[in-house]
Amino acid sequence: MQKILFSVSESEFRAFAGPIETACRAAGLDPTISKQPQDPTSIDYIVFSPDGPIADFSPFTGLKAALSLWAGVERIVGNETLKAPLARMVDPGLTEGMVEYVTGHVLRYHLGLDAILATQRGRWAPELAPPLARNRTVGILGLGALGAACGLALASLGFSVAGWSRRPKEIDGIECFSGDAGLNEILRRSDILVSLLPATPQTESILGAEEFALLPEGACLINPGRGTLIDDDALLAALDGGPLAHATLDVFRTEPLPADHPFWEHPKVTVTPHIAAATRPETAGEVIAENIRRSEAGLSLLHLVDRLAGY
Ligand code: NAP
Repeated sequence: MQKILFSVSESEFRAFAGPIETACRAAGLDPTISKQPQDPTSIDYIVFSPDGPIADFSPFTGLKAALSLWAGVERIVGNETLKAPLARMVDPGLTEGMVEYVTGHVLRYHLGLDAILATQRGRWAPELAPPLARNRTVGILGLGALGAACGLALASLGFSVAGWSRRPKEIDGIECFSGDAGLNEILRRSDILVSLLPATPQTESILGAEEFALLPEGACLINPGRGTLIDDDALLAALDGGPLAHATLDVFRTEPLPADHPFWEHPKVTVTPHIAAATRPETAGEVIAENIRRSEAGLSLLHLVDRLAGY
């Protein structure tokens, strides 16, 4: 029997407990799921979200793993009371959602849909015909589970795709860069820039005034990564007097985005409320069950977080 404690919000418990239990049983496991343990020392696994109650893992002395419901782990990765391995969420359903969000907004910018919708007032405007995707470069910062999937989807539509990661990579269909020089190169050529980096000390404000200044005139930004990637004041300055034509932002330094934040009213900003890609209970349940199965079989976990690197 595997004792699984859920440290998640009420709504996450309602959405995920059933599918995770079903997936565990299908994987040949015998799970007991609870929200409040009688005896913390008996807990084998903790399904974790930052919206749940547990901040101190030290009473869970028999913990075999913490399994994050979220892809982004910045709110648990530095928790020194957690000694057991930490796996982040890589969920096919979440990835599909992110591919759809990013592709949708890239196509919106590429086709100039905002301008087309704004001119539906009896004006025949042939100058709005867009170039082909192959004449447009999309730069993707972060070539992990999400960035790589988005890049491949955009490449399959014909876009010229360049991507940037911490370590050098080779991905068919994506021109890959790494390092400081690689970042500058990507910025210089990105007509549309997508940021899908994790929040770590190294990525804090990675997009600031100097970086925005390198973008081509009229570039657009899509940020479904994390709010901390962006220097908000530098972004506003780049929209007001710099090269940036528009930004679509899904994640923010403070969420919900405060009512008086200038992003809400800015004519060149689209705000979406952290909806780019949710973890999907059915597909994520299988991922969590597979990790518990692997742990019980003595195999290493999938999607282990590198606690030093911070993601
Ligand atoms: P991942 O698989 O861990 O990939 C992260 C990528 O970022 C990797 O390519 C990594 O490089 C790169 N990277 C990390 N630090 C870097 C640095 N200092 N310099 C350059 N590249 C760096 O993560 P993922 O699953 O793709 O998710 C990415 C992020 O998306 C999450 O951390 C989360 O913040 C965000 N997210 C948002 C939503 C939403 O709804 N808005 C949903 C899910 C996730 P290497 O390949 O060299 O390791």
